[in-house]
Amino acid sequence: MKVVVLRETQAGETRVALVPESVRKLAGLKAAVAVESCAGLDAGIADDDYKAAGAEVSDERDALLSSADVLAAVNRPRTEDLRRMKQGASLIAFLRPLDEPAELSPLIEQSITAFAMELIPRTTRAQAMDALSSMATIVGYKAVLLGAERVPRMFPMLMTAAGTVPPARVLVLGAGVAGLQAIATARRLGAVVEAYDVRAAAGEQVRSLGATFLEVDLGGIQTEDAGGYAKELSEEALQRGRDMVAKHAKSADVVITTAQVPGKRAPLLMTEEAVRGMKRGSVIVDLAGASGGNVAVTSPGETIELNGVTIMAPLNLAATVPVHASQLYSRNMTAFLALLIKDGELDIDMTDDVVAPSCVTHQGTYANARVAAALESLAGK
Ligand code: NAD
Repeated sequence: MKVVVLRETQAGETRVALVPESVRKLAGLKAAVAVESCAGLDAGIADDDYKAAGAEVSDERDALLSSADVLAAVNRPRTEDLRRMKQGASLIAFLRPLDEPAELSPLIEQSITAFAMELIPRTTRAQAMDALSSMATIVGYKAVLLGAERVPRMFPMLMTAAGTVPPARVLVLGAGVAGLQAIATARRLGAVVEAYDVRAAAGEQVRSLGATFLEVDLGGIQTEDAGGYAKELSEEALQRGRDMVAKHAKSADVVITTAQVPGKRAPLLMTEEAVRGMKRGSVIVDLAGASGGNVAVTSPGETIELNGVTIMAPLNLAATVPVHASQLYSRNMTAFLALLIKDGELDIDMTDDVVAPSCVTHQGTYANARVAAALESLAGK
């Protein structure tokens, strides 16, 4: 069987789905890998590196597509690429299935069995395949560097002959994978860090990183679903969070916002008034821009200024660290492929508790109840 990797086409994308280390691993599973010429260049991988690992390298994109048993990608490929795939072939990528379910229709038409990286369950068994966590780790780290670079002060406390420089104050909203990495990175740079999350369980993790966890009385409501994700909150509960955030943002130099609820618009955690209440020169890095942003004035993909406060909303920060982002993604992809390949052949077990929930289209139909529900709610709008 043949696994194909193409050059990514999304603007600004620098990552590649498989790196040479994974090509060797897949050879051990009797799967051949074919790579489009220059696919790894932005991630520091030359065609010769792929060849040395045993991959075929070709610049015949269409031929690669039509010969693929599995297309391994970072982003959802363009419709014209999907149309060149064999009927019944498989695709694994970030597909945005809950945010853009209608975009999956070419996969149905081509009868492609598609797996969404986003829907791989966050279970212990699937940990090695958890690309969301891999990318969120990079994004949380990089967001702090962006904030530190932009803010007109230093992060660490310094005692110099010219006097003491106080440490920067960082506020992190949402303490999931990206938020925790942001806390750890800001702490390593010497900042004093406060963090807020609706999930009480996040408190212990925040404190273990040396940050202060901000508690908000939400009246004992259930804030976490069975999968460990945050639930969508009532307007009243959201408002309590916003009030507390506005108070603490006043003294922050950098605010990093990461709050998300899968398949929903990102919760609004900072109003325009809260932004106006911040010190001149302070910086907000809103990591939820792709799902609407956590800050009222966020302009996804852009950096704006309001009353001396900079609000950044980068959309694909993982792509700014292409070497490690590709390496981690490739390992996640290979671990998932290992579940699908038996004796050098594709053997898709739809009773498997990792394979089934991540499959979004199969045999010309939608295979996932969450995606079907997202489509229905779209139709109802
Ligand atoms: P995410 O990207 O969906 O959301 C980021 C954070 O925002 C979450 O911590 C969430 O609780 C928080 N949030 C949502 N609404 C909020 C609001 N109104 N105010 C403040 N915070 C809000 O989350 P994620 O980083 O993908 O992680 C989701 C969960 O999965 C976490 O519990 C994480 O620990 C868990 N997880 C488990 C594993 C595993 O066991 N294998 C791996 C990764 C993540």
